Amino acid sequence: MAYRVPRHPRVEHRTRHQNRLAGLTALVLLWVLVLIMALVADRSIARQHLPWKPLSVVDPVGMATRIKAARAGSDPVICRAILRKAGLTYADLPEKTDGGFCVVRDALRIDSGMAPLSPTDAPMVCKEALALSIWERQVVQPAAYEVLGQGVVSMEHYGTYSCRRMYGKAEGPVSEHASADAIDLAGFKLADGQTVYVARDWNDPGPKGQFLHRVRDGACRVFLTTLSPDYNAQHHDHFHLDMAGWNKCA
Ligand SMILES: [Zn+2]
Repeated sequence: MAYRVPRHPRVEHRTRHQNRLAGLTALVLLWVLVLIMALVADRSIARQHLPWKPLSVVDPVGMATRIKAARAGSDPVICRAILRKAGLTYADLPEKTDGGFCVVRDALRIDSGMAPLSPTDAPMVCKEALALSIWERQVVQPAAYEVLGQGVVSMEHYGTYSCRRMYGKAEGPVSEHASADAIDLAGFKLADGQTVYVARDWNDPGPKGQFLHRVRDGACRVFLTTLSPDYNAQHHDHFHLDMAGWNKCA
């Protein structure tokens, strides 16, 4: 029978204590490292990429734009302050309830500060208006100047608020349009009077088609849900853009 040399209880206790101390030191060092990395990022990385920095409509679209727009947009006071700071004017709209599931709170209508919507009657909840203003300023206009050599003077749409379920069905999930958290963007009017329509120009290999693909791709970095003709036949003539769900881009 093998004989096991008994360890002195004090030695065993010291070893356990040392292990615990080493673990604690490693944890503290890790936190210090994370803190240093966050401080370096805070000073050297542009704020549109940092989720903890405030959102601004004048910043280019970055990695954190969408998450910041969703967060800031959900706060009625912060959302409006960002719109005002960017030079947008708007009118607040009264709360609306049309039926069981159609409830609109925190809606407004953008009056100026971006290419006007056509028709102008386009109530939107603030987070949707915020995302739309960022997209117009940081994606649509730059792409229009770069690809088409001129700016967009108005954006045509098929509607924002609509009391209905998805695809107008009698049953099934409620559409984001039922809470005015969506827009169906049909096309753009350019400064020289030309038009670009999703229905007509999506498959155009020339500049108009390139422009539409660029603004769709850009919408995916701003809105939480972007649906284009690539998604399904129901979207052959418009982009559906809303601020619900998470990262649906097609
Ligand atoms: Zn839609």
